[in-house]
Amino acid sequence: MTTKWLLSQNERMKKQGIFNWTLPAWAVQLTDENPDGTVTVRTVNVCPSAGVCAKHCYALGSDSGYIRFPAARDRHLRNLRMVLDTPLRWQAQMSAELRHPRYQRDAEKNLLGHIRIHDAGDFFDDSYTLMWLQIMRGAPKGLTFYAYTKEVDRFRRLVEPNPPANFKYVFSRGGKQDSLIDPTRDRDADVFLTLDDLKAAGYSSQAASDLLAVHGPPRVGMTVNRHRKGMTASFGELQRQQDSAAAERRQRQQAKASTSD
Ligand code: SF4
Repeated sequence: MTTKWLLSQNERMKKQGIFNWTLPAWAVQLTDENPDGTVTVRTVNVCPSAGVCAKHCYALGSDSGYIRFPAARDRHLRNLRMVLDTPLRWQAQMSAELRHPRYQRDAEKNLLGHIRIHDAGDFFDDSYTLMWLQIMRGAPKGLTFYAYTKEVDRFRRLVEPNPPANFKYVFSRGGKQDSLIDPTRDRDADVFLTLDDLKAAGYSSQAASDLLAVHGPPRVGMTVNRHRKGMTASFGELQRQQDSAAAERRQRQQAKASTSD
């Protein structure tokens, strides 16, 4: 089923006044048929800074993720194709759609209009990120955009110097750039096995509302909704373990190289 809307809303998000823009998670292949009948296959990494999170990604789980639902999968791929192949058209369509009354504050239910950018995928390159910043700057008053992202370096360069007033974001752990997150000044999010683990690590749960990710305490945690094989600690802790094992390997290689000189 095709829909004219770029933004969607599930029942849970609806109760919180949130609309969602999404891309496919992680690495995907786009297959295009050429006019001469040949086929071109593009591999696109939509989450270039994903680290351990990719192993346990909820969007990719064959028993829990969107990939189980062909209609959702098709919509995610359609979104990615638009962004890659007709970016200016996508940007204009998104800007126009945001002017529709359905995105305005619902005064009756006291819901503010929130747009979550990505419930899968990420700000995968500079140009796409800059287009979103332009969309936010031109958006109708009263709308707030928010995002979880692992693109710490990109945000330091492109967003932090002049963030749109209507944009809130939180760095989420489990990515290759976790070491760039500064807990003394950044919001950060982590995924835990249990609520007890979450609390013990000093995080506060966003279970009551996803908006707590950007409007609640700065360290925001969520718990996994099902057993994930091989997930023995939080995303942040698993990434720390992986980063420190990689650093040790590099040191050993350097030491070996210097003794053989
Ligand atoms: S960044 Fe998010 S969507 Fe991408 S692989 Fe990691 S958890 Fe999945």
